Amino acid sequence: MKILVIFTGGTIGSALNDGWLSPDGQTKKQLISHYEKAFGDDVCFVTKEPYSILSENLCADNINQLVSVVKNEICKDFDGIIVTHGTDTLQYSAAALSFALGSCTPPVLLVSSNYPLDDSRTNGHDNFAAAVEFIKAKAGKGVFAVYRNDNQSVRFHKALSLLTHREGDDSLDSIDDKCFGEFTDKGIAIIDAAESACDRIDFTLCKHPQILVVNAYPGDSYGYSLDNCKAVILRPYHSGTLDTANEKFEQFCAAAAKKNVPVFVVNIKEGITYESSKEFDNYKITPLYSNTFVSAYMRLWIGISKNEDLNKIF
Ligand code: ASP
Repeated sequence: MKILVIFTGGTIGSALNDGWLSPDGQTKKQLISHYEKAFGDDVCFVTKEPYSILSENLCADNINQLVSVVKNEICKDFDGIIVTHGTDTLQYSAAALSFALGSCTPPVLLVSSNYPLDDSRTNGHDNFAAAVEFIKAKAGKGVFAVYRNDNQSVRFHKALSLLTHREGDDSLDSIDDKCFGEFTDKGIAIIDAAESACDRIDFTLCKHPQILVVNAYPGDSYGYSLDNCKAVILRPYHSGTLDTANEKFEQFCAAAAKKNVPVFVVNIKEGITYESSKEFDNYKITPLYSNTFVSAYMRLWIGISKNEDLNKIF
């Protein structure tokens, strides 16, 4: 069994230095030696570190570099690849890898940690061990995130199903609270293997995609500039609704339509919905059914980088 571990920083690769948490070279050894002490040395780990950052600083260059390293290595004789990553932006790198590799790739698992590895509260070792077990068990193909929320077992999440974090909370969740599977004392249990097939896309992300993201909140005056804006993503309230009765919102959508800036709304569910959504058509808003914000954002970023017609990519 041969696994490539790609370190990129994050809390899982950080230690306390001068009172600040920052990337620290020692943690690489710590993660693997802790695993070998607990589970033996039957896995051959090969390591790489294309960059080491706190993931809040993730940018196009990092994602392009990560995608390129993974694409180069995946065709070699590894049984799987584990990417250690900061939790803050793990969803974005996971989505980029998923678009780049498609759903039939050998497993690529992103692993992070809520606390540094030498803190007894850390879930990093458990997440790493579960990722190794997933590869050993040949439990699935594609790109996944592996994470244990408080009071839960470690879960495997499909990359394109990941949600952004709840405010101030490190928990990682998938859309509709579904996940691919979990790792318990009894081994790996597959919960929802249904996979929307995803083709591979070749891309190099441009530096700044100029996507305007607007969160729904009462009283917004929608005074956003659409200058140089390539697309708008509206993040609705939890029920997929927006304040369509707000005249400023109507004016904002009309201005976007006039400038040919496509406006998307994510996390919309099929079926009966609220009267306020009747206006979506009139306001030229494209609802993205069951698309998470991150998957839509990353797909648009790719589309903008490749000069694609954004109205045709979903
Ligand atoms: N700020 C850290 C990062 O994303 C948080 C974490 O890893 O949990 O790099």
